[in-house]
Amino acid sequence: MTRMIIIGAPGSGKGTQAEYLAAHFGILPVSTGELFRSHVRELTELGAEARAFMDKGELVPDRLTDAMVARRLADDDVRNGFLLDGYPRNVAQLAALDALLEGKGQRLDVVVQLAAEDEELVQRLLKRAREQGRSDDTAPVIRRRLELYREETQPVVSAYSERGIVVEVDGGGDREAITERAIAAVGSFLGTRQ
Ligand code: ADP
Repeated sequence: MTRMIIIGAPGSGKGTQAEYLAAHFGILPVSTGELFRSHVRELTELGAEARAFMDKGELVPDRLTDAMVARRLADDDVRNGFLLDGYPRNVAQLAALDALLEGKGQRLDVVVQLAAEDEELVQRLLKRAREQGRSDDTAPVIRRRLELYREETQPVVSAYSERGIVVEVDGGGDREAITERAIAAVGSFLGTRQ
């Protein structure tokens, strides 16, 4: 069983790829964006708190996010493997995840970094806005999410790179091609580690 993270800028397609990668490797995807959106839909207290941040493209405060992830990773269905999508998004969350996994005696196997050009990211996000009408897919909010990715999340990628567990995958092109590249890259990385 594999413990995996997928990291990519907003619009990189990481949510979609997470679904396919998780299915291929027989693990469940855990998306913090999806978890937050379901709290918002179900009108929970956490949803009400998170929504104000999400609608502005800001990160939901770490104490809420870390607690939500800890609760989800305590479930039985992810005891032996998971694919985290959207977490950790800053170095404080990375430290929280390290502590959480250490407490369980678990370790991360691989981090998939999905790389894409800024121009392609913005185009994809605006297209998604037209199709799905997500309330955080407006132009200024998209810009803010991209900025936060560069400032807060790139350092997470660097930290995992230093541990030698990052596999970079070209996120350009069509969905199937990206999935195939990612599966091949992760498969060969995991193969060399065994
Ligand atoms: P995207 O990758 O397109 O920004 P997500 O679905 O991953 O979309 O996240 C949507 C929003 O949910 C983020 O803009 C942020 O407000 C919130 N969010 C998701 N994951 C986190 C996280 N790890 N920490 C803080 N906020 C988060």
